[in-house]
Amino acid sequence: MRIPVIAGNWKMYKTDKEAYELASSLKNRLKDVNSIKIVLCPPFTALSSVKKGIEGSNIHLGAQNMHWEDEGAFTGEISAKMLLSSGCSFVILGHSERRMYFSETNEIINKKLKKALEVGLNPIVCVGERLEEREAGKTEEVVENHLKGAFEELSEKEAKKVVIAYEPVWAIGTGKTASPKQANDVHRFIREKLKGLYSQEVYESKIILYGGSVKPENAKDLLNQVDIDGALVGGASLKTDSFEKIIRSAII
Ligand code: PEP
Repeated sequence: MRIPVIAGNWKMYKTDKEAYELASSLKNRLKDVNSIKIVLCPPFTALSSVKKGIEGSNIHLGAQNMHWEDEGAFTGEISAKMLLSSGCSFVILGHSERRMYFSETNEIINKKLKKALEVGLNPIVCVGERLEEREAGKTEEVVENHLKGAFEELSEKEAKKVVIAYEPVWAIGTGKTASPKQANDVHRFIREKLKGLYSQEVYESKIILYGGSVKPENAKDLLNQVDIDGALVGGASLKTDSFEKIIRSAII
């Protein structure tokens, strides 16, 4: 039984006050939802206000990135332990915007992933192809490369704790969504690849989220697919109404 996860990636949106308001209104609206793991990933500066906003609920706090070292002279960076001490239990790693604009490689993502697991954070690792790669028929090659790169040297025990998000880059923030079948085909491919790397248990229990212009209008069709276990939501997670609707679409 895979418990659905719906995570909101707030990217570089929301001041402290705005983040608190959104978090507390979600908490109030979602009191009855306990069959789904809900994760809010605000910017670093709003972690503490979102923590206050969700206090007493079973909504989880997550971050959008971290450094792989414990501490040091890394101006502008945040460590995994700092995230833990701010109340985070999740962290998004290898988002395509980080790969694209901040030159994150598989190697960097693998180092971050190992550190997140070492300190006890639940990583959400993003994989996914760009439009030209899909058009060139390279989707599976790219996704396999991201997957193997991120999971390099991860033990069975570690691999079990990782949530994967399949996010076709061409669908992120563009309004274009992968069709439910297109998304499910890649999710199935990811699951099959994991079977080659780890046990049957990892294959069966792995939570694989879809991300890329998920909206209230398309959430149900995507989340109904057998290999889609939840969603990583950007734009539509910034408003209470739309995020609530997406979360409710995941209730079976
Ligand atoms: C994301 O940021 O991971 C994302 C999927 O964004 P959006 O839902 O806006 O496409």
